[in-house]
Amino acid sequence: MADDAFWRTKSLDELTGEEWEALCDGCAQCCQLKLEDEDTGRVGCTNVTCQLLDLDTCQCTHYEERHVRVPDCIEFDAKAVAALHWLPQTCAYRLRAEGRELMWWHYLVSGDRSTVHRAGISVRGRVTSEAHVHPDEMEDRIVHWIEPRQMEQKQAEPKRSTD
Ligand code: SF4
Ligand code: SF4
Repeated sequence: MADDAFWRTKSLDELTGEEWEALCDGCAQCCQLKLEDEDTGRVGCTNVTCQLLDLDTCQCTHYEERHVRVPDCIEFDAKAVAALHWLPQTCAYRLRAEGRELMWWHYLVSGDRSTVHRAGISVRGRVTSEAHVHPDEMEDRIVHWIEPRQMEQKQAEPKRSTD
């Protein structure tokens, strides 16, 4: 990986719009529906996703018009990252905001868009679209599997040569 890669040399608020978009790893964890406890303010992440998410590619099917179709689809900038406590620990924006390196499975590091899926970081194979879930089921859908799975997969990854 080149030392002068844009995500290493620039802070989040210095990224161009194109670079900002490129930083996303495509995990779609932020497209999982969340429930907020009214008393504690704690946010629970469910294994149910926004109905616009393609569950195979983990891409938004209407990205350009997502905010029209899904008004509460989150949009954040460099300043907002630190306040979004529910953003996964693996999120590339969180990692860079905290001055950490991108993970080996990020396509900008691996050169392969599929590594985020093979590493078990994306939601592929573990979620259901909200189109197929009754609202009453949502509380039973809260999950906590993101980080442990990441660690297992990280340890299982064989050593790779670096640039
Ligand atoms: S959690 Fe972060 S890296 Fe993953 S899809 Fe959402 S914005 Fe992109
Ligand atoms: S509108 Fe698209 S980007 Fe927004 S939560 Fe839904 S699938 Fe994800």
